Amino acid sequence: MPLNTSSKNTLDTSLEPAEESRRGQLIEVTIDSLAELGYVGTTLAQIAGRAGVSPGLVAHYFGDKDGLLEAAFRSLARRVSDHVRARLRQVSTPRARIQAVIDAYLAQEEFSPRTGTAWLAFWGQLLQVPGLKRVQAAYQRRTLSNLRIALTHLVAPDEAQSLAAMIAAMIDGVWLRAALSGWREADSESARALLTEFVDGRLKIAGASAAPGSRMAGSASSTGGDVLRVGEEPSGVGSPRRPPPAAGERFTTVNPATGEVLGTMTVAGAGEVNAAVREARRGQAAWAAMPGAERARVLRRAASILRARNQELAELETRDTGKPIQETSVVDVISGAECLEYFASLAQSLAGEHIDLGAQAFGYTRREPLGIVAGIGAWNYPLQIACWKSAPALACGNAMIFKPAELTPLTAVKLEEIYLQAGLPPGVFRVVQGFADTGRLLTRHPDIRKVSLTGEVGTGKAVMADAASTLKNVTLELGGKSPLIVFEDAHLDNAVGGALLANFYSSGQVCSNATRVFVHSSVKKEFLERLVKRVVGLKIGDPMDPKTQVGALVSEQQMQKVLGYIERGRSEGARLLVGGKRVTAGGLDRGYFVTPAIFDDCRDDMSIVREEIFGPVMSVLAFDDEREVIERANATEFGLAAGVFTNDLTRGHRVIAQLQAGTCWINHYNVTPIELPFGGVKMSGLGRENGRAAIEHYTQLKSVYVAMGNVDAPY
Ligand code: NDP
Repeated sequence: MPLNTSSKNTLDTSLEPAEESRRGQLIEVTIDSLAELGYVGTTLAQIAGRAGVSPGLVAHYFGDKDGLLEAAFRSLARRVSDHVRARLRQVSTPRARIQAVIDAYLAQEEFSPRTGTAWLAFWGQLLQVPGLKRVQAAYQRRTLSNLRIALTHLVAPDEAQSLAAMIAAMIDGVWLRAALSGWREADSESARALLTEFVDGRLKIAGASAAPGSRMAGSASSTGGDVLRVGEEPSGVGSPRRPPPAAGERFTTVNPATGEVLGTMTVAGAGEVNAAVREARRGQAAWAAMPGAERARVLRRAASILRARNQELAELETRDTGKPIQETSVVDVISGAECLEYFASLAQSLAGEHIDLGAQAFGYTRREPLGIVAGIGAWNYPLQIACWKSAPALACGNAMIFKPAELTPLTAVKLEEIYLQAGLPPGVFRVVQGFADTGRLLTRHPDIRKVSLTGEVGTGKAVMADAASTLKNVTLELGGKSPLIVFEDAHLDNAVGGALLANFYSSGQVCSNATRVFVHSSVKKEFLERLVKRVVGLKIGDPMDPKTQVGALVSEQQMQKVLGYIERGRSEGARLLVGGKRVTAGGLDRGYFVTPAIFDDCRDDMSIVREEIFGPVMSVLAFDDEREVIERANATEFGLAAGVFTNDLTRGHRVIAQLQAGTCWINHYNVTPIELPFGGVKMSGLGRENGRAAIEHYTQLKSVYVAMGNVDAPY
């Protein structure tokens, strides 16, 4: 709109608001011009022309170009400050005040191309134009002081200063990167989510949640709702999870032993999943057409690379999961490599069968790949699970799209790199990152022919229901509450060793764990004495220390769940013999460490005996009779695994035959050689991984009838 051209001299004081408004309009025109023409192209004459006023009038209000641009910059900065103030007025707690600052600086309007380009133009001139520098310095002081004041209620004063500087730098940095990428790298919402994660992580590291009087309430951030915020301790079992980020948004993965942020991932949405499917389709056709021997060579090369990079990958897995390096350096990567080698050998021997149909015909079957399949992993063995799913799939000529658990997204990406390096055609193994929504996109995709999930029973049911709409094959590796039975004639030290392997590996986060240890009454006392003696000697601590035997649980939520169950065990009358406490001493306060717990005097109806805890909690139960213990061991909805310790050969086999479990051990526990099929019955799952059995789940049979004589048609 053209401006009124009357000069300032004609205005009396009663017209000052109008004058303000004119100045405001000129400033808006300046911002438009900066957005279109940049700093150099924006001149007084150009602004005057756009505004329909004389250059003299612009000069009258602002002096020269620098004065005009300084006023425009000041106006942008003031607008943000006003938004900060408005948001601060609506909240009361320190954490919410920090969020108010973040939400104002990274608000939607700051991500509009018009405002963003103007900000960039100003920032580019700061060092040359003293007026702009002054505005920027005042703007920065205000930001820092708002953040510092809120932080002094949460962390030590000297930390408040440095943390405020860090948050301010992150706000500027995230915004700048987004602006420089043409707003592709982040939008307002994902930028705020990233800052929220960052602040949450830093406050946790600073021990803010433990500071007296510093319990922080939920912020008034735009995410709203039933959100678990920093410093709000999850209430234990069943605590609400933070709502996951949506497609295109970012999420971070942290080291559960230290709180260190390890990386940032972007949630794959329908666009990314469809692109992965398109690429998989192209790659799979070429891959399936290769002879099995060629596919085997690629798998073997990938296995060699895994072995060569064992230490590096084990360290990454330890940092992402919190499991001790003592475990990951001998199990996680190596078992993945063994899996690739095993299925490489099967790739060369895939075969159908010949069926004799008499002199006039014969039949044969072809074992063909399914096409594109999906793998969805849990967080306890991220790399191993990715290998267990991808190796049989690839050996059979399928392409796999794999979604790791959002808590442990890192090593699957490495596996993708390794497969490519080994010669796998692009797209044949592709990792997509995300939460349940991304998993659902895979499970419901019409061009994906199978989904193999490792996860909880509830997730298994959801996946199966979703897969039904496109009639997909499913393999479900789900939870468990497995029994280990120690008879009176067992080799007691071996039985104790078995019980330890059955409970405390990976801080108890193993699906097949035998968390119900039934011990014959006549040997229970001695069994417990030997067991407790070995447990008190376990070294809990920094997972990267090769001497550490017990590392961190995967997340704060998991730790709270485990501690909640330990409390319930006590309140239901079980006797805690050892462990069951969070460890914070010795620099472990930033991680989620819980000492291995052994409960005695347990009853079958206790929640610690019935429900899957997925943590280092062993329940010991007494029994007197073989028939009785089998009945009690089977009295669960789960059926993943079971174990028996006895020196009576016939009893060992007799009991195992009656236990309702998919994977069993006699005189050992939790060893899973790749040659043996692995999987559950009842609610613990469907289908099998590993062994030749896995081939059945990644191939389909084509039956071919071949006539050797004439066609005798009765028409
Ligand atoms: P979850 O069931 O929570 O998650 C498993 C995977 O499924 C994750 O990648 C998850 O994504 C994804 N997911 C969640 N909801 C859906 C959905 N509706 N559709 C598609 N995908 C979905 O399991 P956890 O990661 O918590 O792992 C622990 C569980 O896994 C325990 O119950 C354990 O017993 C079981 N497990 C079973 C094993 C077996 O072989 N039988 C081995 C190891 C673990 P996101 O994580 O991003 O939400």
